[in-house]
Amino acid sequence: MATVQTTYAGASRSSELLANLKRAGDTYLMYVGGEWIAASDGGTRDLINPANGQKIAAVSEGTAQDADRAIQAAHDAFYEGPWGDSLAQDRAKLLFRLAERIDENADELSRIETLNNGKPLRETQYDMADAANCFRYYAGLATKPSGQTFEVPAASQTMVVREPIGVCGQIIPWNYPLLMAAWKLAPALAAGNTCVLKPSELTPLTALRLATWIEELEFPKGVVNIVLGAGPIVGHALAASHLVDKIAFTGGTKTGRAIMQAAVGNLKKISLELGGKSPNIVFADADFDTAVDYALYGIFANAGQVCSAGSRLLVEESIAKKFVGAVVDRAKKIRVGDGFDPQTEMGPIISRAHEEKIESYIKTGLAEGATLECGGHRPEGLEEKGNFIEPTIFSHTKPGMKIVQEEIFGPVLVVQTFKDEKDAIRLANDTIYGLAGGVFTNDIAKAHRVIRKLRAGITWINTYHPTYNEAPWGGYKQSGIGRELGTYGFEAYTEVKQINVNLAVEPSGWFST
Ligand code: NDP
Repeated sequence: MATVQTTYAGASRSSELLANLKRAGDTYLMYVGGEWIAASDGGTRDLINPANGQKIAAVSEGTAQDADRAIQAAHDAFYEGPWGDSLAQDRAKLLFRLAERIDENADELSRIETLNNGKPLRETQYDMADAANCFRYYAGLATKPSGQTFEVPAASQTMVVREPIGVCGQIIPWNYPLLMAAWKLAPALAAGNTCVLKPSELTPLTALRLATWIEELEFPKGVVNIVLGAGPIVGHALAASHLVDKIAFTGGTKTGRAIMQAAVGNLKKISLELGGKSPNIVFADADFDTAVDYALYGIFANAGQVCSAGSRLLVEESIAKKFVGAVVDRAKKIRVGDGFDPQTEMGPIISRAHEEKIESYIKTGLAEGATLECGGHRPEGLEEKGNFIEPTIFSHTKPGMKIVQEEIFGPVLVVQTFKDEKDAIRLANDTIYGLAGGVFTNDIAKAHRVIRKLRAGITWINTYHPTYNEAPWGGYKQSGIGRELGTYGFEAYTEVKQINVNLAVEPSGWFST
């Protein structure tokens, strides 16, 4: 049984925490075309604190009409407003200032995030710093050279320049609300695009706070629009609109497929960052304590609600019993509770519906004949209305089991064992996903051999999870299309134009006069 934290009374301070957000009456508003608006049909949605089931606030629940209004505003700002012709230096200046606002208000922001998403404060504090750094990184990149010139077999000067794509629809999930907003907005704005961002209906609050600074810093109206509402309505409207030039999405693979289908009408550019079932491979010669530590961090950080989670632990047979025993012992000690409690190491699951989905996977694992080493239940003593699941580990699994193949997106680790390097690689690649993977070994040549054989876009040797704004993020196979972050993430928000300049200005003579 995991150690349990008593519920902390953080939720009672929600109105104070949200004092800087814009509202009409009791309803928090969306930011569209430089104005704070309610839903066109007056609809609202109650946000629920996942740690205790209490209502945090009501937000406007946007409609397809509201999405269209935001798209039109972004379209006008790009094609008719000043942003389409803006200078990179000016865009950089605004993005640097936005990063400063995040840093200056990091305490408030991280508390709003913990209230809305549930994850421990130490995680949201880290996320806020990371979000500020993302804006800062792309502010810097905005002004760096990105063109090329070519020697061509003619009296011609041939150049390549990068230009913004236009209007970008951006749909983000609930597991890193502000950080995902930063990953989407920062490169798009740095490159000169305009944006319509749709946060998850469950976690819109930090994006709304960000919008208050976008207004204060005088980003031109319509450059950034934050429209709220349900994915199948507002998200779908963004994906399907012919006025949207690019759609960027982070979320589940099934939703990614729906978005790709909706986007086909005007063949808009598309970036998809989807799910994973990532292998964390531990060889017998690895540093034992380090590998145990990262096995836990890989799956139980953010309660496993991480696309790149190391949700499959692949252990060399010769150390499997001792290694799994050590991981299980430590998993049982993880302190589960309210994210506002400083003792909490693992917070709640985002919603009751998602908790039930995870529980159904745990039942499936048992029915499939896997051995439940620890967890599998709601921890005792926690707020009954909160959504919590103990750190859960299954061993004695088989490659074909559902719990081995499907993304659970919760604190559930499945253990697989392997005989040798070849066996490890075969098992590691045996899913439809290809997002991430880790290898623990003291044999550096073996580490590199295995990493190069992993069909995955993000990999680690003797660590798991660190992510940097400088390096590209994205997956192979059904884990996505394209890359975010780094220069790759910037280029994904640009069109490439070649310009040929004739240096011998005279008729071509191709046709007779
Ligand atoms: P979704 O993929 O459904 O949600 C992600 C975002 O997409 C949200 O903003 C959502 O809106 C929006 N969305 C939902 N349906 C559509 C649609 N038809 N068209 C356009 N946008 C849409 O994730 P869930 O929250 O439902 O989680 C389901 C599974 O997805 C998880 O169990 C997990 O496996 C995976 N997931 C992966 C993530 C990742 O980082 N790769 C992040 C989150 C989930 P809204 O929710 O507001 O309706």
